[in-house]
Amino acid sequence: MKSIDQLLRPNIKALKPYSSARDEFSGEEAIFLDANENPFNPPYNRYPDPYQRKLKEQIARIKNIPSDYIFLGNGSDEAIDIAYRAFCEPGIDNVVAIDPTYGMYLVAADINNIETRKVKLTEDFELKVDAILDATDENTKLLFICSPNNPTGNSFKAEDIITIIENFEGIVVLDEAYIDFVPEKSFIPKLKKYTNLIILQTFSKAWGMAGIRLGMAFASPEIIRIFNKIKYPYNVNILTQKTALDLLQNEDDMAQWVKEIIEAKSIMKDKLKEYSFIHKIYPSDANYLLVKTDNAKGIYNYLVEQGVVIRDRSSVALCEGCLRITIGSTEENNGLYTGLDKYSKTINC
Ligand SMILES: *Cc1c(COP(=O)(O)O)cnc(C)c1O
Repeated sequence: MKSIDQLLRPNIKALKPYSSARDEFSGEEAIFLDANENPFNPPYNRYPDPYQRKLKEQIARIKNIPSDYIFLGNGSDEAIDIAYRAFCEPGIDNVVAIDPTYGMYLVAADINNIETRKVKLTEDFELKVDAILDATDENTKLLFICSPNNPTGNSFKAEDIITIIENFEGIVVLDEAYIDFVPEKSFIPKLKKYTNLIILQTFSKAWGMAGIRLGMAFASPEIIRIFNKIKYPYNVNILTQKTALDLLQNEDDMAQWVKEIIEAKSIMKDKLKEYSFIHKIYPSDANYLLVKTDNAKGIYNYLVEQGVVIRDRSSVALCEGCLRITIGSTEENNGLYTGLDKYSKTINC
């Protein structure tokens, strides 16, 4: 493996980051006349903590990893974009990603003018480890793996992920957005061993906070320091920091939601099996089911007319005829079944 220093873009290595007023002072109970803030209208008048220290303390406790292994951003998307800007030289470097997977890796690559090399999964949605490693060259800086994978729903074998981490010269970005639905599979405990690993997690899914935009990246302190250098100084606003701190007290709620979602997934599986137009329900470690149908567009459009919106994934690699359905509340799921029952009748007459 190359050192982080060797992988880093030269301009980022040389970068002297913006030093904010709140950066230079760390302490409490002071009179703040340093940032040209308005003394009125508390608490919104003050700039937020640029390093979100209180929030990271709580996350460190929950995830059992020191605070200096944590980066927080405006959704996981910020961490993805920063990884490109830190390591990938536009027009020269490339990244490798599995296919199908989450769309943002490719969009962020295109925005940063970085070539993406897509390596298809097997028909069973497993990693082709050799093909993935073969797709890399000396300019491959990042390798994206999403597990549990979106949209396929499966988690990859830990030994396959390890083989890739141990044999790739660059940095593996492992997206664990859905890991709270299978926490035992997280690679966070392996971070101390693998210094070329960045793990992405989010508050948007199991934690139920998609609206506050808060994503996490976990990596060696060396990588976290680089991310901190590149990010906007006040990238996580005080409303988000405060709301997350409050809601992190609800760990028990989160565990209960996850339990209910997993139960509802099992009910949905049984229910979907009954429809003749659904040919396959793929195994899922996440909060959604990928199903193969004989008419993805038709079913999608019909459900939209019934006020039920699912995701048509039929144009995605290896997902011909596939729809992705998020597990909702009992009421929402019943709305789906009602829509599918009606669709059944339209094709049977
Ligand atoms: C939903 C999702 C995310 C979350 O992105 P945020 O920007 O944190 O909301 C990240 N990765 C994958 C694969 C996802 O499906």
